[in-house]
Amino acid sequence: MLVAGNWKMNLGHADAVGLAADVVQVTADATDAVGVAVCPPAVWLDAVAERLRDSGVRLGAQNVHPEESGAFTGEVSPPMLRDLGVHYVIVGHSERRQLFGETSAFAAEKVRSAQAAGLVPILCVGETLDEREAGDAEATVLDQLAASLDGVEAGDLVVAYEPVWAIGTGRTASPEQAQAMHAAIRGALADRFTGGDGIEILYGGSVKPGNAAELFAQPDLDGALVGGASLDAESFAAIVAAA
Ligand code: PGA
Repeated sequence: MLVAGNWKMNLGHADAVGLAADVVQVTADATDAVGVAVCPPAVWLDAVAERLRDSGVRLGAQNVHPEESGAFTGEVSPPMLRDLGVHYVIVGHSERRQLFGETSAFAAEKVRSAQAAGLVPILCVGETLDEREAGDAEATVLDQLAASLDGVEAGDLVVAYEPVWAIGTGRTASPEQAQAMHAAIRGALADRFTGGDGIEILYGGSVKPGNAAELFAQPDLDGALVGGASLDAESFAAIVAAA
C-alpha cells in the first residue's frame, strides 16, 4: 500500500516545512507497513527533503520535464529531481493534461526519462464526467494508459486512477466504481508487462479520512493519491492509518 500526498500549488516555505515535519511525526508508526510520500511544490523539494531525512516518508515531485538538460526555460529535469533525493514523480495529472495541454505521448516521454533517472513515476489516468456519462469511462482510461506507456519498458511504476469529476469536488467514485476501473487497469498492466499485475494502483479524487477505509477494502486498490486532505497532517495520517 502507498499513500501519497499531492500538495499541488499550495503552502509557503514555512508551512511546507512545518507540514513535512508534522507528517513525519504523525505517520511514524505506520511507515513500516504502508508506503508514505509527500509531493510538495518544486521550490520546496529541497527544504522538505531535509525534514524527511531519516524518516520513513518519501519525497515526490509533482511534475518533470523529459529532457535531461537544455533550453527549457522554467522546467526541471529528472536528474535534477534525483539530486534532491526525490523518489516519486507524478506524471500526467489531469490538471497538467487539462490546464497545460499535456498529451499522453508527452506523459510517456516523462515516464521513460523519469525511470531512466531512477525515479518512480506515478502515472495518472482518468475520465471526465462526460466520458463516464457516455459509457466511455473504461475505454478512455485504458486508451490513456496505453498511450501514456508508449515505449515504456517494464520498470518501477505506480499508476493512479483519478476520475477527473472526483478531483477536488468532494465527489468520490464509489468503492465499486473504483474497484471496477482498478481491475480493468490491473488487467491491462498484466497484458502489457511481465509481472504487471504487481504494479501498485492508487485511487485519487476526494479521498478523505471518512471514505478511505471503504476504498482500501477493495481488492485492487493499493493506496491513494491524496490532494486536499494531504494538506492537513491529521487527516493525512488518518488516511494512512486506514491503508
Ligand atoms: P483531491 O485531489 O484529493 O483534492 O481530490 C487528488 C489529486 O488531484 O491528486
